[in-house]
Amino acid sequence: MGNSKSLYSQKHHFQFSQNQIDYLEKNTPVKFEEKLRKQNLFPLTPKTLEIFQINIGKMCNQVCKHCHVDAGPDRKEIMTQETMALCLKSIELSGAHTVDITGGAPEMNPNFRWFIEQVSSLGKTIIVRSNLTIIVSNPQSYTLPDFFKHHNVEVISSLPYFTAQKTDIQRGEGVFEKSIKALKMLNEVGYGRDNSPLKLHLVYNPTGAFLPANQISLEKEFKQKLKQLHNIDFHNLYTITNLPISRFLHYLIETNNYNDYMEKLINLYNPLAAENVMCRNTISISWDGYIYDCDFNQMLEMKIETESQYQHISFFNTNILSHRNIKVNQHCYGCTAGAGSSCSGNTI
Ligand code: SF4
Ligand code: SF4
Repeated sequence: MGNSKSLYSQKHHFQFSQNQIDYLEKNTPVKFEEKLRKQNLFPLTPKTLEIFQINIGKMCNQVCKHCHVDAGPDRKEIMTQETMALCLKSIELSGAHTVDITGGAPEMNPNFRWFIEQVSSLGKTIIVRSNLTIIVSNPQSYTLPDFFKHHNVEVISSLPYFTAQKTDIQRGEGVFEKSIKALKMLNEVGYGRDNSPLKLHLVYNPTGAFLPANQISLEKEFKQKLKQLHNIDFHNLYTITNLPISRFLHYLIETNNYNDYMEKLINLYNPLAAENVMCRNTISISWDGYIYDCDFNQMLEMKIETESQYQHISFFNTNILSHRNIKVNQHCYGCTAGAGSSCSGNTI
């Protein structure tokens, strides 16, 4: 079931986000908006901005089958240093305490290290979402664990399972072995060890059309197995529900799982999770400097609801941002099912 090409390279009709939105709107029996209305939560509005998430490019050394970014080696969209400089100014204005850097593989952006150095000088908590295999991809990357340590970067890495078979099915052949090697390198410099301030968290997302199991039990199981089999330590495990967009939407349809999966998400709608969706304290910036309510809206090209000039980082305005309504659509069911899902795992 592994992919070798992005939807973009395949010229698949889902490379255009509007086609995904149209499909979701046509094929979801209950509107997400209606669920919010029932609990007086529509329109959804932001709370205090805490996290500034920046997607610095779609380029990646992997082509995972569930990827909501449709990332891959064939994607050339990456953030320029000029746009990064605009982000830095906006981070200072925003009052956000955390800068969350993602991709693609963010490390593949040639200005990645420069950017981390600049964000580090602002005194913010820095998160880097690393796919791990990039750390062992070439000799230059071997220094990443030390570089992360130097800037006290919090590393969040995907590992869909503690066995090679399940990991490689989702992320590509050989990914598990390389991920283990990279985790060992991170552990060696102090990441993930008990009481270490160098934070290393793992992300679990299901390898098929099902929801993640209980986060606490899975964390326990992952900790035990990774320690026992590979002597690897990490801090927390975040379980993330796959949202029905991009390559995962394609997968659901191809495998005739779309209707069942959406039904599950709708039936498991949790009002408490809806109160706590991540778009309420996070904004998301794309490689070309546009502002979105979250990384998923970014991939569906649903820019924030405001006058067009304020949709770009060059006109970053905290007042406009805090008074906007958040754009929602049917994919949002992925954030509100069960214990809720966000880039930092469960939301309740
Ligand atoms: S490593 Fe992440 S960004 Fe890259 S293809 Fe996989 S899911 Fe997408
Ligand atoms: S998909 Fe984005 S906009 Fe929708 S609920 Fe989740 S975080 Fe909010």
